[in-house]
Amino acid sequence: MLLPLFRTLCVICLLVIFHAHKAAAAAANLNSICSTLASRLPNNRVALPRNEAYNVSTSSYAYANQQTQRPSCIVQPASATEVSLVIKLLRQSPNTPFAVRSGGHATNRGFSNIDGSVTIDLTALRAVRVLKDGVTVSIDTGASWGDVYRVLDPRRRSLNGGRASNVGIGGFLSGGGIGFFALKYGFGCDAVTNVQVVLANGDIIEANNKSHKDLFVALKGGQNNFGIVTRWDVTTVPQGNVWGGSVVYLNTTTAAQLNAFTRWKSSKNFDPASSVEQSHVYIGSINQWLVASLLFYSEPTPFPKDLKGFTDIQPQLDSSLRITNVSGMADEIQSQSTPNQYTIFSTLTIAISPTILRKIHSLWVSSVQKQSANNIAITSSLTLQSIPSPPSSPSRQNSLGFPSASTPQKDLVLVLLSSFWEDPAHGPQVEAAVQWFITEAEKTARREGVYHKFQYPNYAAAQFQDPLRSTGRLEELRKVAKRYDPTGVFQRQVRGGWKLF
Ligand SMILES: Cc1cc2nc3c(=O)[nH]c(=O)nc-3n(C[C@H](O)[C@H](O)[C@H](O)COP(=O)(O)OP(=O)(O)OC[C@H]3O[C@@H](n4cnc5c(N)ncnc54)[C@H](O)[C@@H]3O)c2cc1C
Repeated sequence: MLLPLFRTLCVICLLVIFHAHKAAAAAANLNSICSTLASRLPNNRVALPRNEAYNVSTSSYAYANQQTQRPSCIVQPASATEVSLVIKLLRQSPNTPFAVRSGGHATNRGFSNIDGSVTIDLTALRAVRVLKDGVTVSIDTGASWGDVYRVLDPRRRSLNGGRASNVGIGGFLSGGGIGFFALKYGFGCDAVTNVQVVLANGDIIEANNKSHKDLFVALKGGQNNFGIVTRWDVTTVPQGNVWGGSVVYLNTTTAAQLNAFTRWKSSKNFDPASSVEQSHVYIGSINQWLVASLLFYSEPTPFPKDLKGFTDIQPQLDSSLRITNVSGMADEIQSQSTPNQYTIFSTLTIAISPTILRKIHSLWVSSVQKQSANNIAITSSLTLQSIPSPPSSPSRQNSLGFPSASTPQKDLVLVLLSSFWEDPAHGPQVEAAVQWFITEAEKTARREGVYHKFQYPNYAAAQFQDPLRSTGRLEELRKVAKRYDPTGVFQRQVRGGWKLF
């Protein structure tokens, strides 16, 4: 009777000892990798958990999802040559996973940080220079969009960067990038003319339309599957002041808001100078439903005709509509974001119809009500906006999957559901509610004949979405990844991000 029990206990003990031994060996291996990195790089490039630089780096992620991750060390290279050295060292240890981070605004846990291994934090690479031609801005990947606008505004030039000033360059541009001028000039990545990339073997190359064109196109939408981009050269356009801001309305205006958005999207006189992000918001902590719209016009024209459908809606609780510059807009949007909480972003794309927005809104209300009934204090936002225009010429080709002849900017609505909460224990329930919403919204869109397969990589939920497959370019991207990274460092060792295989 006692013998089998004794045997079972022995097996358990052996397993515990084996796993403890394995964990100790892995920790020793990581200590040695972090020490080697520190000894091969100039001083202060490797931050350990006891260092202030480590806390500064982890706390500068936008959300708790990644702020709470604990790498064994954070390496902060300050040049492409140092990035190359780091990759060469890390690939010698193929069982050591690592993360790559620029601005740290990814909403999916593990996309740009990692537990118990190495994070490459690129924020020391943050120069922004306007080149001699006065048109191209050369942006190191660790800068923020606020840094870029502060250089470009005084020169009366601009580009499609992040609409909140703290958003980073690397994740934004490698995932597409939707800026204020998206309806005029397309995705942010379409204006990129050259990238400096560190490949898996440590080579530092320049990719553009003449050299490594396949890689150049893949990096515009294909995210971190091919190498680490250290510098982005981007064409700017002439741009003076703009008009816009945020308007907050009571939720009694919901029907009027949805009608205004439907009319705006259905208009035959499409005005690409406009941009609208209409957010239906629930703030659980005060049990308040609101509508908050970001209205933008790329000329300093107050209350343009194209946006009258939104500016006429009353009552308005607050409005910051004014003439300002792009930095002013981006700083305002940054100040309205709700950082440091747990979050999940998820997305779907639809064509417009007279009834679809009402149905999607009502599904969102049901999903929020279910979560509130379970005492989850969430802030939830259902945001409607447009898809950028497709690349205007073959030299601007990207990997997002919209052909040049298509008109997604007119035809399609990008839906973003973002949810925020503080107690990590609520994560599974919120995630389940978000997935329920997306599934039901997709079913509804299919029934109405307005479903579109595109999932925007920078908004998709890693738990249940797969945006690179939605672009129809997966096979092409796989070929490029095999060509530039034959041993699959960016597929296996870099765990976070959308994978190709
Ligand atoms: C407050 C807020 C506002 C936002 N506003 C917008 C907006 O206006 N428009 C829009 O389109 N999106 C917006 N987003 C989404 C944003 O584009 C993505 O979160 C994007 O990934 C952020 O880029 P990052 O460099 O900060 O991300 P990171 O978290 O640093 O990286 C994201 C991913 O990109 C990879 N990556 C980063 N740098 C590199 C590099 N140099 N080389 C290779 N791979 C790299 C990382 O490995 C990771 O998988 C917003 C997000 C937030 C939280």
